[in-house]
Amino acid sequence: MTAQSPVEKIPLVDLQAQYRSIKADIDAAVERVISKTAFIGGAEVKNFETAFAAWCGVKHCVGVGNGTDALYIAMRALGIGAGDEVITVSHTFIATAESIGQTGARPVFVDVDDVALLVDPALVEKAVTPRTKAIVVVHLYGCPVDMEAIRAIARKHGLKVIEDAAQAHGAMRNGRRVGTLGDVATFSFYPGKNLGAYGDAGAVVSNDEALMTRIRMIANHGRLDKYLHEMEGVNSRLDGLQAAILGAKLPHLEGWSKARRAAAALYTSILKPKGVRIVEELPGSESVYHLYVVRVPGRDRVMDALKAAGIDAGVHYPVPLHEQPAYRHLGMKPGDLPVTSQAAKEILSLPIYPEIGKARIERVCAELLKAL
Ligand SMILES: *Cc1c(COP(=O)(O)O)cnc(C)c1O
Repeated sequence: MTAQSPVEKIPLVDLQAQYRSIKADIDAAVERVISKTAFIGGAEVKNFETAFAAWCGVKHCVGVGNGTDALYIAMRALGIGAGDEVITVSHTFIATAESIGQTGARPVFVDVDDVALLVDPALVEKAVTPRTKAIVVVHLYGCPVDMEAIRAIARKHGLKVIEDAAQAHGAMRNGRRVGTLGDVATFSFYPGKNLGAYGDAGAVVSNDEALMTRIRMIANHGRLDKYLHEMEGVNSRLDGLQAAILGAKLPHLEGWSKARRAAAALYTSILKPKGVRIVEELPGSESVYHLYVVRVPGRDRVMDALKAAGIDAGVHYPVPLHEQPAYRHLGMKPGDLPVTSQAAKEILSLPIYPEIGKARIERVCAELLKAL
C-alpha cells in the first residue's frame, strides 16, 4: 500500500501561481527599472498610467501610493473637507470611510441591499442633507453598484460621485467599465487585488482634466514643477518598480477576470441547487469576482470546519464600520443598519483566483456542503 498523499491546502488567494505563470515578464520588468535606477517617476510610471487609462476607457490616470490615498486625494481635489458629509456604506473595508475622515469630512453610513450587499440607492437619497457633498460608492467583491440610480440622485442634489473600485478592475455596468461611471474613480493595486502590485500601489482615473491636474499635484507635494509648490500636498506616488510590474500584468487582466467569472459560475452551479445562499450580481452588473461570497448559518463554525479540511476561507468583513470603535463617535447602533449587521454574521468568502481550477472548486463545495 502506498502512503496517502497529504491533502493539498487551498488558499483564499494564490499569488505564487500567478507569478509562476508570468515569471519571465515580471523579472524582466524589475530588471529594467533597476538597471535604469528609475525608482520614482519616469517612463514606466507614465506608460502604465497611459495603458491603465486606456484599459478603463477614461482619459486620465494618476498613479498613487495605494488605494486609500487614492480616495483621500480624489476627495481633497474635489474640495471635500471639514463640515462636509459624505455618504457611503458601512459594509466595506475601513479605507473607504477612513479617507473621508482624513479630509475632515464626516462619513454617513447607509445600509446595503440584501442580495448583492451593495449600497441601497433609496437609502442614499434619504441620507442627503444640506451638508452632503459626495457619495462614495463601493463596487464590493467586484460587482458594480446601481450607478444609474446613484447618478440620478447626485444630479438632483448636486453631489459628486466617487467610485471606490479597489475590488473591481474591469467590472461592467450595462456595458460600461467601472472607472467611467462617476466623477472620479479610485483603484488599489494591493498584492491580493485583481490587479496587484508587489507592494502597495493605487491609481485615480477620471475624464476631468482640471481635477486630475489637482490630483497629480496633491499626490506629489502640491507641485507640478520640481521647485514650485502651489499648495501642501502629500507624498503618495506610484513607484517605478510597481508601475513596471503592473504594466507587465495588465495584458493578462482580461483573461484573469474571465477565469474568475468562470470559477464563480461553477461555484454557483454547484452550491445554489443545494440551497446555499449566494451573494449575487445585481441585474445589469457584471462582477469580476474579487471575492466569491456565500451566506451561511453558523458561519464561524463552518469556517473552522473548512480550515480543518485545509481550505482557507475568509470573512469580508466581520465587523461593519458603524460597529467599529473607530466610529463610536458617530453614535450608531448595530440595528441602525440591519442588513449590514445581519450579513456580517453570515458572509463567508470562498477561495477564488484565476488559477483555482475545477477540481479545487469541487473540493471546496464538497467540504462546505459537508460542514453545513
Ligand atoms: C483594498 C481596498 C481599499 C484600500 O486599498 P489599499 O491599496 O490597501 O490602501 C479601499 N477600498 C476597498 C473596498 C478595498 O478593498
